[in-house]
Amino acid sequence: MVKISDYWLNLVSSLPNLPKPQGDMSILQGVGIKACLEQEFSQRADISIPGPVMDIYRLIGRPRPLVRAKLLEKALGTPARIWLKLEGDSPTGSHKINTAIPQAHFAKVEGFKGMVTETGAGQWGTALACAGALQGIPVSVFWVNAMYRAKSERLDFMKLYGAKVFASPSNETECGRRLRAQNPEHSGSLGIAISESVEYARANGFCCAIGSVMNHVLLHQTVIGLEAYEQARVFEFYPDFVVSCFGGGSNFGGLAIPFIWDCLLNVAPKSVTFVVAQNESAPNLTGTYEYEHPDHEGILPKFKMRTLGRSWEGAPIAGDGLRYHGASPMLSYIMENHPDLFEVMVFPSDEREVFAAALTTLNCTGRLLALESAHAMAATIRLAERAKQENRPYDILTNLSGHGLLDMTAYRQHLLRA
Ligand SMILES: *Cc1c(COP(=O)(O)O)cnc(C)c1O
Repeated sequence: MVKISDYWLNLVSSLPNLPKPQGDMSILQGVGIKACLEQEFSQRADISIPGPVMDIYRLIGRPRPLVRAKLLEKALGTPARIWLKLEGDSPTGSHKINTAIPQAHFAKVEGFKGMVTETGAGQWGTALACAGALQGIPVSVFWVNAMYRAKSERLDFMKLYGAKVFASPSNETECGRRLRAQNPEHSGSLGIAISESVEYARANGFCCAIGSVMNHVLLHQTVIGLEAYEQARVFEFYPDFVVSCFGGGSNFGGLAIPFIWDCLLNVAPKSVTFVVAQNESAPNLTGTYEYEHPDHEGILPKFKMRTLGRSWEGAPIAGDGLRYHGASPMLSYIMENHPDLFEVMVFPSDEREVFAAALTTLNCTGRLLALESAHAMAATIRLAERAKQENRPYDILTNLSGHGLLDMTAYRQHLLRA
């Protein structure tokens, strides 16, 4: 069996001209996790994973399986070989646990009284709640009110881990109280939840945890790709296509970075295409490359990234973890400089093709996918069809970022409309 990696691969170290953030960094002072802020622009190529983090990575089932989906290949009648990295086999249901664990570890070592974060679709809040429970550090979550109300099972799940979960805007902060005074039924936004988190962290001696986009988050997620790289070696293939869904870029980066590394150093044994699955409701990689705030309100420093603009309001979708205006600065930069390496597939916001891919995957692999991950499968199926037309036995390596066992409401609505 392939071993779990004992280091994270730091792609930033090979990007000397990566633009730095701009503007007032003082907001992060005091509430940022120092180890993570150091990792953000570290020049070390490999950053060793602390022992206690390794132990919990093992506990939550790392290394995760890489499986070949032969029944799916057969059903599609494709000569392609489809390889699936099963990040949905995580206790909380997504890859986000891979960064939640080290963030909780460093927060505890640095003496913070707790961790606070904002969550939209809810996967990130659940992952942090779990990481806090396992490592004995309190977790508070500001959850966008509209989602908080819609996803009662996920809310209970977070509470079972002992997390405090507040519908945002909340009564916990000045900012929240002001907004609730104007409108007690306020549906909230990620931007508001971020403002509340920062205020709450300052007042309580907590730190703010971050679930995607930032360099250190992608760094932690490279455990996915480092395992997959070794697993591919054992199975004796090198991917022609590396496929992932893309919200802020953490599950994509996590799988792709070791392979991107080979491409940037010109040591990949063949040409690889990195295929990104996005939704029309937030195709941030088709946006402009410019400095923009990561949050809607513009409180945080600006990052140079592909973005649709911070006031972008795409229609809500079932795969709502993909609905974010900006893309990882590191990946945006690579895309600007090596556009030939990438192919962006944008799926229609009615998500019919995405649900169809989810059902095909369910019946050929047994796994019910998060709707975000179903975007990756929709892209994989398109590639398998391309392989058939071209009669080429491509190796397609796909990241399945999460399971959909708590997404039954979305699946039920799909069954009703079908
Ligand atoms: C959050 C999430 C995503 C999107 O975020 P990335 O940072 O782009 O990975 C995708 N899939 C799942 C299951 C998620 O929870």
